[in-house]
Amino acid sequence: MYRERYTLFFVGGRINELENVIDRLIELHKLDMDIARLRKQCCEIPAQIKLLDGELSRAGQKVAGKQVEIRENEKKIRSREQAIEGHREQQGKYRVQLFKLKSNREYQALNNEILLLNDKISEIETDILEYFERIDAARKDLNRLEMELRELERKIVEKQKVLKEQYRGEEKLLVQKEAERKELIKAIDAEYLERYQRLVRKHGSAVAEIVSGSCGGCYVRIRPQLAALARSNDVLVNCEKCGRFLYWSDVSES
Ligand SMILES: [Zn+2]
Repeated sequence: MYRERYTLFFVGGRINELENVIDRLIELHKLDMDIARLRKQCCEIPAQIKLLDGELSRAGQKVAGKQVEIRENEKKIRSREQAIEGHREQQGKYRVQLFKLKSNREYQALNNEILLLNDKISEIETDILEYFERIDAARKDLNRLEMELRELERKIVEKQKVLKEQYRGEEKLLVQKEAERKELIKAIDAEYLERYQRLVRKHGSAVAEIVSGSCGGCYVRIRPQLAALARSNDVLVNCEKCGRFLYWSDVSES
């Protein structure tokens, strides 16, 4: 339970000073919320930029993959063309030998070898045609992927530019808010500041608006007398449950 739960802080004639305390605590609360939000965004933006880099790199890898596929098929074609060349050379040698052969049987056998090589060559040529077809299809894919990559690159560069600008702006604002905070806490009594920090450690926030008659921090109902005191701005009022400093803004309704 909050140690000072029923304590109210009356300061008699020093109303202006008291108003300053709650105003400064509200201001500190707002600054702390802004600082937390800005710090979070300053962490998230570089991660978003990195994520976009990853997306671009994956699209680039797809293009590179297609280029490799095309080169590999071209290599296969070259090796098959060399095989055909080898077979044709062999056929040439056989043809020279044909003239030297005496018997019809030998002639027939060698001629069959030549014809067999013709079949092999024609098989290889069919393979080569298939590789050419694969290359054609891969080139079409490559064109599409390259177009997509260029489009993605354009979009990502634009997005990253916006994010970087946003980051610079938020970083600048963060430095500014931190400097404002440093100045503001100089003007807050050490005792209040200590209580403020303790509440932040415990609940994540130390100041709450009274919303529809309840504490905006823990949502417990505020006794009407306390709500009226907060509304009067004459005394510093804390929530009886969570201990947060309570304030009443003009837009609040009981
Ligand atoms: Zn509360």
